[in-house]
Amino acid sequence: MKKENHSNIRRFVWIAFVALAIIAVSPAVRAQTLSTSVDGLLGAAKNAAGLEWPGTFLRLCIPPPPGAPAPTAPAAARGGARGTPPGPPARETWYAEPAKVADNLYFLGTKIHSAWAIAGSEGTIVLEALYDYAAQDEIFGGMRKLGLDTRRVKYVILSHAHADHDGGAKLLQDEIPGVRLVYGAADWDAVDISTNHAGGKPKHDMVGKDGMKISVGDASVQIVTMPGHTPGTLSFLFEVRDNGKPLRIAYVGGTAIPFNANAEYYEGYIASSKKMAKAAADYGATALMSNHTEFDNAFFKAHTAANRKAGVANPFEVGTAAVARYFTVVQDCATAARIRATGR
Ligand SMILES: [Zn+2]
Repeated sequence: MKKENHSNIRRFVWIAFVALAIIAVSPAVRAQTLSTSVDGLLGAAKNAAGLEWPGTFLRLCIPPPPGAPAPTAPAAARGGARGTPPGPPARETWYAEPAKVADNLYFLGTKIHSAWAIAGSEGTIVLEALYDYAAQDEIFGGMRKLGLDTRRVKYVILSHAHADHDGGAKLLQDEIPGVRLVYGAADWDAVDISTNHAGGKPKHDMVGKDGMKISVGDASVQIVTMPGHTPGTLSFLFEVRDNGKPLRIAYVGGTAIPFNANAEYYEGYIASSKKMAKAAADYGATALMSNHTEFDNAFFKAHTAANRKAGVANPFEVGTAAVARYFTVVQDCATAARIRATGR
């Protein structure tokens, strides 16, 4: 009896000690987790990047050294609100030959930025308009080189209103009779109030809404709104044919992040990335594309696709697991950026 009492007391003391220890230690544990979680997230992101997404990892997980120019300032890079626009860079630094990537998918981008044509039975959809100085040579010139009729273009869809993707928007609107120009609602607002839009300000036209399907006969692009990189960023889901077989593509319209934003920004960006990751998975996308070639290696892959032997798989086709890993990279890096910028 006495022995049992003693062991009960010992058990009680032990439980109380453990409980107190947990209470006392937990803030320290939390602090420890916080101080190591940036490194933990970077490690996880690097693993997820694998062989497919090293460029995305480097750009989103590694902040530029102090004093380096902001990486996400395409407007500033072309003058923007401050200063006069510098002239276009030397052509040999950006010009890329066009490439037929799949049966009805064509790369019309520069070495740095992507633009695409998707050909359908009743017209063509162009994604992105590049910098103003590149649009004529790459989009019109590229389509002509590939034997595509520029007058068949029914829609030009802009992922977002930054000069490196929509500088050629006015040119395309002016030169293609009857074309519809599509932006997300908030990015149309940005275009409409802009006073020095690089390449000129396009006239307000069609708003791309979440779930909208834009079709040209047997080809179509489904819109996924993805506020984050800009408030009106649009991403896309579409299917092309490759060697006669369907190839499903998830296309992310805005990827780069600032490293000095507030928690709300990062949370919105991460929520959008999760939304698109789910949409891509539900769609069964086995390819992931972006609009900067550094994120998806598009310039290299496009020409590899165009020059492969018959029957060789499309280099953009990486499988659903690798597509999912892309979104893990983006979300882990954005979470690390949030912790660095806000301390939590
Ligand atoms: Zn941008």
